[in-house]
Amino acid sequence: MALRRVVILGGGYGGACAAQTLLATLEEDEVWLCDRFCGHHVTSRGPEPGWIIPLSRFLPLQPRLVVLQTEVHELDWRGHRVLTDRGVVPYDLLLLALGAWAEPCRVSGAQAHAPSLGALDTVPRLRRCVRQFARRGRRAQVVVLGNGPAASSFACAAARHFGSAVHVSVVPTAPEARIVPEELEAEGVDFYHEAVATAVAAHGVRLSQGEELPSDMTVWAGELEAAALPAAAGLSCSAGGRVRCDRHLELVGQPGIFAAGADAAVPDGRGGLVAPTAQAAIQAGRLAGRNIAHIVCGQELEAFQPDLFGPWQALSQQHAVARRGSLRTSGAGRSTLSDGARAPWLYAGSGVRLRTVTERLSR
Ligand SMILES: Cc1cc2nc3c(=O)[nH]c(=O)nc-3n(C[C@H](O)[C@H](O)[C@H](O)COP(=O)(O)OP(=O)(O)OC[C@H]3O[C@@H](n4cnc5c(N)ncnc54)[C@H](O)[C@@H]3O)c2cc1C
Repeated sequence: MALRRVVILGGGYGGACAAQTLLATLEEDEVWLCDRFCGHHVTSRGPEPGWIIPLSRFLPLQPRLVVLQTEVHELDWRGHRVLTDRGVVPYDLLLLALGAWAEPCRVSGAQAHAPSLGALDTVPRLRRCVRQFARRGRRAQVVVLGNGPAASSFACAAARHFGSAVHVSVVPTAPEARIVPEELEAEGVDFYHEAVATAVAAHGVRLSQGEELPSDMTVWAGELEAAALPAAAGLSCSAGGRVRCDRHLELVGQPGIFAAGADAAVPDGRGGLVAPTAQAAIQAGRLAGRNIAHIVCGQELEAFQPDLFGPWQALSQQHAVARRGSLRTSGAGRSTLSDGARAPWLYAGSGVRLRTVTERLSR
């Protein structure tokens, strides 16, 4: 049989785990991994620096693995190729793992006054703001708007990193936020769990009860918008731009193209979609890798049945919290994960996550 080329777009949790699975499963076929960064870009958008690990640390170096640092511009699925700023990359089988960012600001005034944590200058702005207030002998009031782990993780990391120089609050942008209040409180972060942000202005956030919450810097970590590439290519996408997949993670109506991670709209079996978290992306990446290998070997595809732990939250580079049912564990990321969770797929957005990912993936 002719050798195949599997191309993976995105080297985050989903893409990196899929690449690792493919390299371990297929013996000869080529695996190409395209990402705009040369490392696993964990959260350089967090307030702490240095959250990138080179992909080479957890992907075994071998001639049939090509890691291409490039911006992917276009997906030509009819021609079985992707267009990148380093040229055209043809593929036989494709995996989309391009992630999602907190870009769209759906609260009035947020576009103007709440930079997204997806924007590269948000963290430098936050640093400047905190420094300015510290020089005047004042604590900066920081408000993070959002409903999930990105918001809570960013808020906790900011509170830890800047210490007494800031006071951080989290305000949901929709009811039923997926945030565990106790974790925020333990970090000294206020959580307005009964309120929803209705408007953002230069110096504050209006809450649903009418109260004005003063803010020196407001950060948007709200609804995620998936990478624009699949929708631009005419692939079927759900609200939020996530590409529609079946239970095998194969794109609906597009045999041979898979998606894994925050850019994939995968049915959760209860009428909704699997939430975009690190643990879901890791499990999806592994399954997509296995299913692509099944296609190459002419075997049946497996269905995605994620075993999700419940909230797992990185609170800082050195600290994480995990829950499963009544079990709660916290501490340094690694022991949190191994003692409490006993699950190799629990990682989140911090240096802890980096180290853990490195160790786990290299096994
Ligand atoms: C600040 C922050 C904190 C978070 N904290 C938590 C947490 O505590 N717990 C939790 O479970 N989840 C957390 N999340 C969410 C979690 O990080 C995501 O769900 C997870 O990263 C999704 O994995 P992924 O592989 O789908 O995408 P990603 O990990 O985002 O990877 C996507 C990759 O695609 C690349 N890419 C995208 N577009 C292009 C292009 N056009 N060309 C080339 N490369 C491209 C990107 O560079 C990136 O490397 C957090 C997110 C943020 C932003």
